[in-house]
Amino acid sequence: MAPPVPRRREYEVIIVGAGVLGLYTAHYLSQRMDPGRILILEKGYLSAGASGRNGGGVRQQWETVPTIRLAQESVASYRRFPREFGYNPWFRQGGYLFLALDENEEAILGRTRSVLRREGLPVEWLEPRELGRLVPALSREGIRGGNYLRSDGVIFPFPVLWGLYQDLRRRGVEILLGTEAQEILRSGGHVAGVRLPQGRVDVPTVVNAAGGWSREVSLRAGLTVVNQPSRHEILATEPLKPFLDPMVVTLRRGLYFSQSMRGEIIGGLTLSEPAGGDHGMPSSSRFLGEMARELVRYLPALTSVRVLRAWAGFYDDTPDGLPVMGEDPRLAGFIQANGFGGHGFMLAPAAGRRVAQIALGEPTDLAPGVFSPDRFQTGGPPPVREGLQLG
Ligand SMILES: Cc1cc2nc3c(=O)[nH]c(=O)nc-3n(C[C@H](O)[C@H](O)[C@H](O)COP(=O)(O)OP(=O)(O)OC[C@H]3O[C@@H](n4cnc5c(N)ncnc54)[C@H](O)[C@@H]3O)c2cc1C
Repeated sequence: MAPPVPRRREYEVIIVGAGVLGLYTAHYLSQRMDPGRILILEKGYLSAGASGRNGGGVRQQWETVPTIRLAQESVASYRRFPREFGYNPWFRQGGYLFLALDENEEAILGRTRSVLRREGLPVEWLEPRELGRLVPALSREGIRGGNYLRSDGVIFPFPVLWGLYQDLRRRGVEILLGTEAQEILRSGGHVAGVRLPQGRVDVPTVVNAAGGWSREVSLRAGLTVVNQPSRHEILATEPLKPFLDPMVVTLRRGLYFSQSMRGEIIGGLTLSEPAGGDHGMPSSSRFLGEMARELVRYLPALTSVRVLRAWAGFYDDTPDGLPVMGEDPRLAGFIQANGFGGHGFMLAPAAGRRVAQIALGEPTDLAPGVFSPDRFQTGGPPPVREGLQLG
């Protein structure tokens, strides 16, 4: 099939990537400028990247204040989503339970509680007995307790993507699926256009929202970056009757599991030998073995439950565990909106709003230096490091 032809020869903003970040950015941009002058390029299909491959976890439990604030705003956005977009993404606020398995993890969770409470979030420390009341099926062997925040939860990603996509198309934003940004064209130190398989389009502003491919898109603009893609796997079991309210997480293996509205247990972990980004997105029998062992350790009743599906996607990792949002100082008009690791879905509504402001040349309330692309170019350590970036 011939690739779709762009409606115009020139645009005001091109967004590379129709994942949740690109779509939310376009949503906020389209409220502030002529939607017809925004073009979204997606080399695959809608939700081809991590946005269509994730665990749907939405939490506000972070160590660092700038991220906590983005997460709080995003929770409020997802609560509004059905009214705003007319689709129900089944955002279920059953809480997030972070388990502590040793003294060190207990201390980390203690510090996190102080930060969260100062930000007005009523996180609780649950002793093993209380954990048993919250999740009776949980084996408490070796568990010292856990941090629990009721307003965290899980969301079904596809209605979010579909709701945003339909809304953008209705307002006249152009979205070309199956269309790759092959090169970001420059004139002097400024973005001048994008080369597509269908030819060149002119544009002064490009947003790099390419997730696990953001490094490659930066290279196509002539820029090297610190972002690294890493493959992560995830599985879904056969549906079970509801028994698990919170998303359960351990710091040690980056293990997480929750129960979807359809009853499946959905979860993943970081492999003992982490996979890089070089070999595509296959799932592996090694993951199935490691994940089955960990799941059954915490939920022994799952021993004979069948796995229905397993799949993989890319995290887009940065050295300090924080995303990158801002104009790249080396190329005017090139906006970085990537590096969200394993947590971009839960931050996307608030992050997309800031990225739209940056693309419009407006000031944002983002803490200076914390998320900016140049924090890795100064040679010194980044100002903030987020330790609860799991996986
Ligand atoms: C297994 C797994 C579990 C996860 N669990 C969670 C979770 O529980 N909660 C959470 O918040 N986050 C989670 N994440 C992370 C989250 O999914 C991502 O951070 C988020 O979806 C990133 O969104 P994005 O829009 O930046 O990127 P993506 O969704 O990856 O979208 C980028 C898009 O860009 C397109 N693209 C790339 N290059 C080009 C090009 N040159 N031209 C055109 N298009 C291009 C790609 O095809 C892709 O569709 C998980 C991720 C994985 C892999």
